[in-house]
Amino acid sequence: MYAKVVVDIPNDAVDRVFDYIGFDDTQVGMRVLVPFANRTVMGYVIALSETTDCDLKKIKSIIKHLDSVPKLKTEILSLTDYLVGHFFLRKSDAIRLVLPSCVRNDNQHEQNRFLISLIVDIDTAINTIGKRAKNQLSAVAFLSEQGEADYTRMCDMFGRASINALIEKGMISKEKIRKLRAPISMKSKSENHQLTNSQSEAVEQITNQDKTFLLHGVTGSGKTEVYMTIIEQALKEGKTAIMLVPEISLTPQMMSRFNSRFPSDVAVLHSGLSEGERFDEWERIFVGDAHVVLGARSAVFAPIENLGVIIIDEEHDSSYVSESNPRFNTHDVAEFRARYNHCPLILGSATPSIETFNKAQKGIYNLISLPERVNGLNMPKIEIIDMLNEVMDGNTTPFSKPLLNNLQKCIDEKNQAMLFINRRGFASFMMCRECGYRAKCDDCEVSLVYHKEDKELKCHFCGKRYRALTHCPSCNSTDIKYGALGTERVCEDLKKLFPSVPIFRMDNDTTRGKNAHQNILSEFSATKPSILVGTQMIAKGHDYPDVSFVGILDADVSLYNSDFKSNERTFQLVTQVAGRAGRKTDNAHVVLQTYAPKHYVYRFASNYDYLGFYDKEVNLRQTTQFPPYTNILRILISSVSDNLAKDTTKEILDECMMLKTKFPGEIIFLQAMPSPIKRIQSKYRYQILTRYLPNDKITSEFYSIADRIKKDVSIFVELNPNNLR
Ligand code: ADP
Ligand code: ZN
Ligand code: ZN
Repeated sequence: MYAKVVVDIPNDAVDRVFDYIGFDDTQVGMRVLVPFANRTVMGYVIALSETTDCDLKKIKSIIKHLDSVPKLKTEILSLTDYLVGHFFLRKSDAIRLVLPSCVRNDNQHEQNRFLISLIVDIDTAINTIGKRAKNQLSAVAFLSEQGEADYTRMCDMFGRASINALIEKGMISKEKIRKLRAPISMKSKSENHQLTNSQSEAVEQITNQDKTFLLHGVTGSGKTEVYMTIIEQALKEGKTAIMLVPEISLTPQMMSRFNSRFPSDVAVLHSGLSEGERFDEWERIFVGDAHVVLGARSAVFAPIENLGVIIIDEEHDSSYVSESNPRFNTHDVAEFRARYNHCPLILGSATPSIETFNKAQKGIYNLISLPERVNGLNMPKIEIIDMLNEVMDGNTTPFSKPLLNNLQKCIDEKNQAMLFINRRGFASFMMCRECGYRAKCDDCEVSLVYHKEDKELKCHFCGKRYRALTHCPSCNSTDIKYGALGTERVCEDLKKLFPSVPIFRMDNDTTRGKNAHQNILSEFSATKPSILVGTQMIAKGHDYPDVSFVGILDADVSLYNSDFKSNERTFQLVTQVAGRAGRKTDNAHVVLQTYAPKHYVYRFASNYDYLGFYDKEVNLRQTTQFPPYTNILRILISSVSDNLAKDTTKEILDECMMLKTKFPGEIIFLQAMPSPIKRIQSKYRYQILTRYLPNDKITSEFYSIADRIKKDVSIFVELNPNNLR
């Protein structure tokens, strides 16, 4: 019997299926070791056959099985075919997407695991090792390909003696992996609500339908309750469910709601898990111990069988589109799996993306609306404050009078307030007033952000830290100007204004530790009165009944991000943040500070008029020929060599230009330019932007041009990108 094998080498030259002689018990979906060009590599059996077109004298045998039970199930294998066809991925990349690295490189069971990696460059290693130590050579070649690998697995493959010799020679390092198993599993008391009429109707329409639904419901309209009821029904029928949420809404609150509704049946997958935890959760799903998967984007690949429903909550969230290779889009993958299992796919949001709502209007999706909050409470009133008036009145602080008045009232009533500012740190830059010097990152073309607590300047793109400026390094002046304020500064100012009120801060800096996120939230929820200051992190997934005031300090930040989604994104953000208020009381209040009080985004947002906003926005998109009436595709080219990046960009552009003749009149815009941020982590960045009438053939041509150009540069193609930095 012959096994058709995809080798685990991410390289176009070997992006094919290779035939090997299998064992009697070789099965489709197994990981195997195979000889490959004088090396031993891991591969995946994707099919078996009685025949082969290979030369029988040359065909080699599989060395050994790495699994007794195939890791790739039938549906997941079909999914990889879909990924290859739909996103033009290499076969090995498609498999890497569906099998997390902790599973591909297994051995996570053992308590004492070590990770080894190459610590010298490959040429040095080859020269030092010499030609005769074949196993050692293979091992370093393997490592340079893989980055790092499990110690025991490497010993299995290349012999313990060779691996230890390499460690002794200082070619590779061996480090113990710390184990932190058992992700947090909290339970709240189980609440089984009697569904409202609109909730029951929604459930009835969706149940067991092989269709895609858009569940459009205001914040607090009981969407999550609808999801859980449908999941419950699926479980009763012996089926399973995947529920996807944006990474930042995967809050302890959300997890405990699921854990208490579906005790010991929920597996959670998110980026905060240790490798071991992720492996364990994956195994629980794989063997059928968990029937509900709750997770961020990549949980859409969970090895769960017999799906009864897939849910994408906050479907408009930008985290559903992968921002690095291999490219994929969660909606499309979910759609594939829902159709494969003949089950419903539910896209839920209070502020659906324009593209999704457009599909619902065209009848491609089925629209279901939940227009009211469950408890009949009004949405909190949003008051728009023109900051220009404040400045004219002599108020140059970040807080307008109405904001302070409302905050004071909220505190007097012993309630809680949330203040939203989408910028972390103390000030967005430091600059010399005398000579104009601005502190920038050595490796990135961006200003450094001042973090007062740490007395540091930090690069928010690469993480590099620098000492804060006390004087200008260029002219020695001590007259330093601070940029726009961030969360740290807001907290500092608030402490002066409200010295006796506990103030909590939630942003990337305060949520580093494993349970930091949860700790901040549970302290906040237990403290009254109190104020929570935070970035986008506070905008989602929280349901704190005593929040009666929400302040949006600088809404314009996202409005002036000049890409086609900035209006849409601002509308969504304002609605989400405002939605945190008034879950118990009717007189909750929101203050939105802006310098553009008449902007239609704010007008519609303050009236909770999604449909009004949609109509206006979609008309604008139609007249200016933007998505969904066109596609925008960006090819991002980056390299440490500026010239190489530039030349490659030119080369790709030339090829793309030919598509203009191939698809006359369909390509509206096609241009190359430096990216808005010209350098990140020492890599120069260029982009080709194109806008064309929606046509999958054109998309695939662009994909294949970008994939075909092989240079020492990294190339990333994005369709309708969420940001263009
Ligand atoms: P959404 O997901 O639309 O924001 P949730 O499902 O989180 O809404 O519901 C908002 C709040 O209302 C939650 O506290 C939830 O427990 C409660 N809730 C939901 N449905 C009902 C119901 N039918 N009866 C009473 N309370 C409900
Ligand atoms: Zn200076
Ligand atoms: Zn940097």
